[in-house]
Amino acid sequence: MRGTDVRLDHVDVTFGDFQAISDVSLEVEPGEFFSILGPSGCGKTTLLRLISGFQEPTRGRVLIGGADMAGRGPNRRPTALIFQNLALFPLMSVRENVAFGLEARGIPKRERLARADALLALVALEGQGAKKPGELSGGQRQRVAIARALAVEPAVLLLDEPLSALDLKLRQHMRAELKAIQRKTGVTFIYITHDQGEALTMSDRIAVMNRGRVEQVGRPEELYAEPATPFVATFVGEQNVLIGTVAASAPGEAAVDTPLGRLVGRTANGAPAVGSRAFVMIRPERLRLSDGAALAGVVSRRDLEGPFFVLHVESGDTRLVAHVPNSGAIPEPGARVALAVDPADMLILPEGETARA
Ligand code: ATP
Repeated sequence: MRGTDVRLDHVDVTFGDFQAISDVSLEVEPGEFFSILGPSGCGKTTLLRLISGFQEPTRGRVLIGGADMAGRGPNRRPTALIFQNLALFPLMSVRENVAFGLEARGIPKRERLARADALLALVALEGQGAKKPGELSGGQRQRVAIARALAVEPAVLLLDEPLSALDLKLRQHMRAELKAIQRKTGVTFIYITHDQGEALTMSDRIAVMNRGRVEQVGRPEELYAEPATPFVATFVGEQNVLIGTVAASAPGEAAVDTPLGRLVGRTANGAPAVGSRAFVMIRPERLRLSDGAALAGVVSRRDLEGPFFVLHVESGDTRLVAHVPNSGAIPEPGARVALAVDPADMLILPEGETARA
């Protein structure tokens, strides 16, 4: 099996007068694990339907392996789709489920079953072929669905929140399994999720979507460290957001007057105008307790998260969340504390929509 590239070129989708997808352009590399991450209703499923051929664009083009897919239905595209509810046939054996799509292609029975067995081995279900889907665990059924989708040798596998029905432990285990299967097959995976943990752990690259638009495309560590917009900054990982007014600005750096005083941090793209509204973004793990530091407040709550404490610190209407190591003396609720942060760990972005308004 070999993966191929997928390209969306200025794609719009409108339903009546509602624009579900607005000017989306994306390039997915052959053999890439590419995720589309965004909140409910942002257009993720519509994007998958565009690639798989269940939805035609209102404007723009979808290209797979360089070929324009206009007018080509789902079974004339080199794609396979796995839905959340796996849609396995309950009365067929696991092996027959996997071999199902091959019959329509006129492949003889013996070869169909041999291929099914090879795929079951690939997804670590050797020897389980005679069972019915109902006799398997949720994670095993998930792998049967993947084997079935891979049986028709797609160049692109499209996965629509395939882990959301599983419990937390299994979901985390399946992340590693999915990634391993993707690496072994070399098939291009396009994975839809609203769960940033899933996207961050599995993906080569991620497109973050909001309201039908792609806000940013990048490697997981890029999105986390260098979010381009307030939405990405707050949707990917936890974030403290301080709102203020730009007091001074130079290339790569700005000073912002916030309710907690003047803060100097780094800017991402260009210098924000003096007098404009801006956000100062600080990750909870970048705040540390330090006597006499600039960000002072009162501990309102503290929760143990195992290796660290989540400390909620309030000052007037402003609330900060800090992750402090679970070692030494941890301040109790009611204690006055001061938090320090390096200027490089304060990212200044122009005011805009955040994920948690
Ligand atoms: P979820 O994670 O909840 O599945 P999503 O990000 O996959 O959401 P979509 O299913 O792509 O979102 O839907 C995007 C928007 O388009 C939603 O507001 C939805 O109501 C709307 N929409 C989707 N399909 C249609 C349709 N056939 N007719 C009208 N509106 C639609």
